[in-house]
Amino acid sequence: MARPSPVTDAVRGLFLAHERHAWSLDELHESVRVSLGSADYSTVFRAVSSLEREGLIDRIELGDGKAHYEIRDEHHEHVRCDSCGRVAEVPGCVLDGASAGVRATTGFVVTSHQIVFTGLCAECASARTARL
Ligand SMILES: [Zn+2]
Ligand SMILES: [Zn+2]
Repeated sequence: MARPSPVTDAVRGLFLAHERHAWSLDELHESVRVSLGSADYSTVFRAVSSLEREGLIDRIELGDGKAHYEIRDEHHEHVRCDSCGRVAEVPGCVLDGASAGVRATTGFVVTSHQIVFTGLCAECASARTARL
């Protein structure tokens, strides 16, 4: 076990608080910096990597080219707003049964998948309608 660090505790606390659905490293770094007064990016990155190894959090892809992390939870998909970047959880799995099809066509034994829907969140969609 690595020696506990205030940064790791702060990062763990952010995930456990469930304030937002998924965190990018930049967002984690900024929040830890605010709560501890200072924190370097590499320390935050190491804290995130060790929580990922512990199995507390998972890295997820949201299609914006950045690494995002969320607390490990029931399998679910994600939807991301193209306008403001908000991420929401799509409960359950929309791909039930699809793994068998992937196996049939590719021969791969599928163990996981990551689906990201993109669009406009309710707020951005209504702002857009209001402007029209
Ligand atoms: Zn939005
Ligand atoms: Zn999620």
